[in-house]
Amino acid sequence: MTTPLNADLHCHSVVSDGTLTPEALAERARGNGVELWALTDHDEIGGLQRAREAAHAQGMKYLTGVEISITFLNQTVHIVGLGFDADNTTLRDGLRQTRGGRGARAMEMSDGLAKVGIHGAYEGALKFVGNPELISRTHFARFLVESGVCRETSEVFRKYLTEGKPGFVPHRWATLKDAVTWITAAGGMAIIAHPARYKFTPNEEYALFTEFKGYGGQGVEVVTGSHSVPEYQIYAETAKEFGLAASRGSDFHSPDESHTELGTLPALPSGLTPVWELLSSRIQ
Ligand code: AMP
Ligand code: MN
Ligand code: MN
Ligand code: MN
Repeated sequence: MTTPLNADLHCHSVVSDGTLTPEALAERARGNGVELWALTDHDEIGGLQRAREAAHAQGMKYLTGVEISITFLNQTVHIVGLGFDADNTTLRDGLRQTRGGRGARAMEMSDGLAKVGIHGAYEGALKFVGNPELISRTHFARFLVESGVCRETSEVFRKYLTEGKPGFVPHRWATLKDAVTWITAAGGMAIIAHPARYKFTPNEEYALFTEFKGYGGQGVEVVTGSHSVPEYQIYAETAKEFGLAASRGSDFHSPDESHTELGTLPALPSGLTPVWELLSSRIQ
C-alpha cells in the first residue's frame, strides 16, 4: 500500500485570526511532514501570495484557499474554497463584501461586553488584529484572556461570545449560494467545513448538503481538527451518500490555542475521493 499524501488544507494566519505569519505556518507545516498545503484565512485571500512563495520555499505543493462565513438557517456555517484563481473579481468582490460588516459588529460586541462591566474590549481586541478588515471573535477572546477575565479562549467563547451571551451579536453573513458560486466562478472547489460543529437537526443538515450540492459544491471536510474520531466515520458516510469528495485539514490557528497541529491528523478513511485528486490541475 502506498503512503497517503500528507495534505493539510485548512489553517489560519495573522491575515485573519491565526497568530503566525504565512511563512511561519509553512515552515511549521513542512516540519510536520505536510506535502500539500493551503492557507484558508476567514473571508480573506490577502495572505495567499506569501503563502504560495513560502510553500514553494519549503518544497511543498500548494493550493489557493479561503474559508467563507455564511448564514444558513440562522446559523453561521463555513465554506472552504480551494484551487480557485485568486485574481477572480467575482470572488474578490464577494469576499470584500463579506468582510464589510465586521467592524460594526465588533463595536456592537464591545457594547454588549461593556454592559457586563468589561470595558474597552473593542480597543483591546484591535491590539491583536493583524488585518484591520478582519476583526473576529477570536481577537476579543485573546483580549479577555490577556486582561484576566478568563483563563483561556475556549472559556471566553463559552461565557461571552456564543449565542445568548453578552458579547454575541447575531450577524448575517453571505448566503450558501453566493459562497459556492463565488468559489466555483473562480475555478475552485467549494467544501463544507467541519460539519459536525453545527447545531442542525438531521433535516436541516440534509437541507444544507442538498442545497450545497445543488449550487455546485463538491467536497466536505471529513478529517479535521474540529471533529472527533467517531465523527470522521459519520462524515465519511455523508460524503459517500452525497457523492462529495473528502478533505483533510487541521484548522490550526495558534501554537498556544490549537489542539491539533498542522499535518498530524489521521489519513482519510478508505473508500473516499480526496479533494486533491479532483484538484490535481489546480495544484501549484
Ligand atoms: P467570527 O468569524 O468572528 O465569528 O469568529 C469565528 C472564529 O472563532 C472561528 O473561526 C474560531 O477560530 C473561533 N471560535 C469559534 N468558536 C470557538 C470556541 N468555542 N472556542 C475557541 N474558538 C472558537
Ligand atoms: Mn478562526
Ligand atoms: Mn471554521
Ligand atoms: Mn478555520
